[in-house]
Amino acid sequence: MCGIIGYAGVEPAAPVLLNALERLEYRGYDSAGLAIVGAQGIERLRAQGRLRNLRGKAESGAPEGVVGIGHTRWATHGAPTEQNAHPHVGAKGLYTIVHNGIIENYAALRDDLRAQGIACATDTDTEVIAQLLDLYDAGSPLETLRKVLPLLAGSYALAILYRGEPDSVYAARLRSPLLACLCPSGALLASDAAALLPHSREIYRMADGELARLRRAEIQFFDASLNAVEKQPVAIDRHVTAADKEGWAHFMRKEMAEQPETVRLTLEPLLKRGGVDLGEADLKNPGEIDRVLFLGCGSAWHVGVAGRLVIEELTGIPASAELASEFRSAPITVNRNTLVIVISQSGETADTLMALRRANEAGARTLGIINVVGSSIAQESGSVLYTKAGLEVAVATTKAYSTQLAAVYAVAARLAQLRGSVSEGALQEFLHALAALPDQMEETLQSSESPALAWAQAVHKQEHAYYLGRQLDYAAALEGSLKLKEISYIHAEAYAAGELKHGTISLIEPGTPVICACCREDVLAKALSNMEEVRARGADVFAVTSDPQLRAAHVLRIPKTHPLLGVSLAVLPLQLFAYHCARLRGCDIDKPRSLAKSVTVE
Ligand code: GLU
Repeated sequence: MCGIIGYAGVEPAAPVLLNALERLEYRGYDSAGLAIVGAQGIERLRAQGRLRNLRGKAESGAPEGVVGIGHTRWATHGAPTEQNAHPHVGAKGLYTIVHNGIIENYAALRDDLRAQGIACATDTDTEVIAQLLDLYDAGSPLETLRKVLPLLAGSYALAILYRGEPDSVYAARLRSPLLACLCPSGALLASDAAALLPHSREIYRMADGELARLRRAEIQFFDASLNAVEKQPVAIDRHVTAADKEGWAHFMRKEMAEQPETVRLTLEPLLKRGGVDLGEADLKNPGEIDRVLFLGCGSAWHVGVAGRLVIEELTGIPASAELASEFRSAPITVNRNTLVIVISQSGETADTLMALRRANEAGARTLGIINVVGSSIAQESGSVLYTKAGLEVAVATTKAYSTQLAAVYAVAARLAQLRGSVSEGALQEFLHALAALPDQMEETLQSSESPALAWAQAVHKQEHAYYLGRQLDYAAALEGSLKLKEISYIHAEAYAAGELKHGTISLIEPGTPVICACCREDVLAKALSNMEEVRARGADVFAVTSDPQLRAAHVLRIPKTHPLLGVSLAVLPLQLFAYHCARLRGCDIDKPRSLAKSVTVE
């Protein structure tokens, strides 16, 4: 993950870099640093911890100059210390670099360097790149990169300063995102458009294997053989100002409140004339699809866990959800008749991107459900459905999850419509409920606020919690438990309710909180038995349900909807509950420890 920025211009570089890093901080926040070309050469400033620490240092003396690079780190190799913070320099001080990605063969490269008398000063994988650039310096950064990049295995987005060319920033990318723009004061490059949008909406996307040179008034792009590449900018339409809490205590709480509206915006273009219109993403030859596979990580995988059940119920097509990180190294079983649905908020999730490439190579038809327009996964998917979540700042997703789920409902309904796998009446009933979902989400958020707070008051001092659900309720349980873990650091596990008795029930003790999602009527009787089983062992049972009769120690009732849509409502009080637990425990809700928003390392 981590965010990188480069600037070559006419304004003092330090504030430009620091402001951009602020917009990238969601990508990593365990240390930060910058390097600026000054009168005395390239000067670095680095600090452990949040960006505010680097800002503090910069206030009492930032390097002066108009060309520089910056980094906000999510450590993969080496502890998050100041010593390991980027930028890193080579032994001769020729090259100074910031890096997003992982150099997988860094240990072997480090050994080679040591054999040549070059000792690395940090524990990072990144430093070997700086050392190799210095070692193989050909007098021209592009020529040097041509020699060094083929030695690197893994992934990188690099911003590079070269002592011999004080007016330039160089860049290279492989499997980690990198974008660039020109603005009146100079040229910039960054890991994410969020850092560039205050300067320009005309953004250049670098492709894998490309290199770039940025100077005050120009950006030149090259392929791996150093041939010039002509590139057109894409106009990005995104609300820069959306990164504002608008009176809410946390971005996460604001984003939760935005869920009904963002789901409405996502569904609006898709639900038309009593049917579903996927536009350019419409499913070709739907009769040939004999398998649907969802790929994602974290919450996006949870969307797939729900999505597979919705697909199976509406279309009868066998469906499954796999973790992208596992799929990418598993035996290939997808083919041209498999619809692979790839889900990612950022569209840059490295594991998901690699899984998508594997599915594409195998000839599967791929459909991306993505929030960021023009992102890598969006570009490489056979077709794309964009969610309309807008900018999501909190690391723990809420509105991206809900909009992804909404898009999956639309795909499932379209597939059912095309294949005639459900009656017209049943389809209309589903679509009608789907159109009503945003209002019901609004209602659920309002009615859940105070019971979720009461639940949190009862649970926030615990160190363990269990979540149970069957079928779609299990998908809600998975997402609920992840929310609690991510932001409150309470250990939580989600179980398919029938599975607990096969081992994990031994962990239930008097007072252990067990949170149950009970919205599916067809499995309610069995879910109730599972609740009784944990209650019999002293568990404190909390139930989210749409059933008016259900009794438990703590019950939070949500509106009734179509049986396939209950997960979209059940997850809302679970988000609120996790949020209040984290708040009562004094956690850093928007930037939980060790996490980052856009996971661009594998
Ligand atoms: N691997 C590098 C480090 O640990 C960069 C990490 C990243 O891209 O998040 O410093």
